Amino acid sequence: MRSSTICQLSHCGNVTHGTKPFCSEHIEEHPYVRALVAELRARDAELERVAQRGPKAVDLDGAIIGDIVHYLEENIECTAADLKRERLHYQPKEVVESYLIAMRRARMVKITRTRNGAMRVVLVSSAPKPPLKRKRRKRLPTPAIAAPKVVVEKAEPSEPPGDVPAIAC
Ligand SMILES: [Zn+2]
Repeated sequence: MRSSTICQLSHCGNVTHGTKPFCSEHIEEHPYVRALVAELRARDAELERVAQRGPKAVDLDGAIIGDIVHYLEENIECTAADLKRERLHYQPKEVVESYLIAMRRARMVKITRTRNGAMRVVLVSSAPKPPLKRKRRKRLPTPAIAAPKVVVEKAEPSEPPGDVPAIAC
């Protein structure tokens, strides 16, 4: 009944358990284990980049964002501290917040603040979306000389001073 195979690592020759392709000494050669190790290294590398460079270093299609999205799908609302504890393995606060800021820029989450200033997070989209374009800015005149002219015209004291308190409010 008991089938046995030989370890696929050349020159090993050990018998493996059942139909496993590698012996217990060479289990790290297994494709599944290799993929796991590669993913863990990729995560560590990304966390290091985010710690150094902030939100722009976040991989929006990466495994860490995937973990966060999965958590937010199960918990409609949570705080940055929840994510830090549950999905980000107690990374520094700056790293946790960098992920949330990157997700907000990609319109994946909405962030509000609790009374004590903690970030409260709500999932909006499980996948990143392109940032919203500000159409108004496109219509502004591009030459640098044009901008001061507009300011000078507005600064003319022809308007009654009744508008000033309204701005102050
Ligand atoms: Zn072996």
